[in-house]
Amino acid sequence: MNQISLEHRAVAQEPVAEGAVLTIDLDAVRENYRRLKARLGATRCAGVVKADGYGLGAVHVARALAAEGCDTFFVAHVGEGVSLRDAIGAGPTIYVLNGVPPGAERDAASSGLAAVINSLEQLSAWRKAARDTGLKLPAAVQVDSGMSRLGMPASQVASAASDPQAFEGIAVALVMSHLACADEPAHPANEAQRVAFEQLRAMLPPAPASLANSSGIFLGTAFHHQLARPGAALYGINPTPGRDNPMLPVVRLEAKVIQTRSVSEGVGIGYGHTVITNDATALATISLGYADGWRRRAAASAYVDGVRLPFIGRVSMDSIILDISDLPEGRLHAGDMVEMIGPSQTLDEVAGFSGTIAYEVLTSLGHRFQRRYLGEP
Ligand SMILES: *Cc1c(COP(=O)(O)O)cnc(C)c1O
Repeated sequence: MNQISLEHRAVAQEPVAEGAVLTIDLDAVRENYRRLKARLGATRCAGVVKADGYGLGAVHVARALAAEGCDTFFVAHVGEGVSLRDAIGAGPTIYVLNGVPPGAERDAASSGLAAVINSLEQLSAWRKAARDTGLKLPAAVQVDSGMSRLGMPASQVASAASDPQAFEGIAVALVMSHLACADEPAHPANEAQRVAFEQLRAMLPPAPASLANSSGIFLGTAFHHQLARPGAALYGINPTPGRDNPMLPVVRLEAKVIQTRSVSEGVGIGYGHTVITNDATALATISLGYADGWRRRAAASAYVDGVRLPFIGRVSMDSIILDISDLPEGRLHAGDMVEMIGPSQTLDEVAGFSGTIAYEVLTSLGHRFQRRYLGEP
């Protein structure tokens, strides 16, 4: 890049949002945290901020939660934990859900991260890290109560329990497990996992217990134990699918109109001409596509003034064509914003159109979006 364009950049204003704008309401995150806490009574409430806070910005979310008194966070990777520690300081406990992979023990220990110990291998590596660093290292022991994903199976719990040196140098601050079917309250696996969890944790050194994710909180107090670990509900995802969402929406996604046009009857629309117009049709092309994480096969709509503007033709990499015939003529112009996720079309509805869950919609959303945070503490 030459000198002139560099100078140009130095004086540039805040960049114009070319594509979509993702607005993240941190006041809503805080309100959602308060709602969960109210449900939990004396049970403490952590914040799960893995995958960069479900795509919404782990540091922003963690700071907002800290302002509500949250002092325990869960990430998935050591790298996520190291970044979070740098941003939020030494006070809060940060657990690494996937555990500490071989070779990352020193990084994890030096950032004061707490390992989630999922296996005897992870246990012995953490014990060795404690010996090598001369520190008492914090940890949660995760037991597999019936999901078969992460955590020690009963045989490993028994073997750790029978070894008096197993936890040498390790401060076990939590015994935890994860529910496979918490979003299906009638599923028998919930009660089976709860019972298995009680049995497994009774074998281990006494420590506070944690079983519930967002949906688990809504299974009742028997699932609350000492610490709950919600993620989804904090971000406005409905923890009670099929029932009204008890949480406030957190994200709003708006996309920018690039151009509008009117076409006559018999005209092919978009790649593959998958649509040929039956009538004169008003169109708007918006700057959002599958490269922004909007699923190509998600046949959804946009909204303006509460009017539904269906997608027409295929979703492209960087753009989508809308049928805006139901809007008054001249209502939409280049540069106007249309609602993609918001009051007219919820995150959970978009997930339904995409054939996926809201978790995946959030974590797929846009590296090209301009992000705006409301209610920054
Ligand atoms: C992701 C995760 C959570 C949070 O789950 P939500 O359904 O988003 O509330 C809690 N515990 C563990 C072990 C997880 O992996």
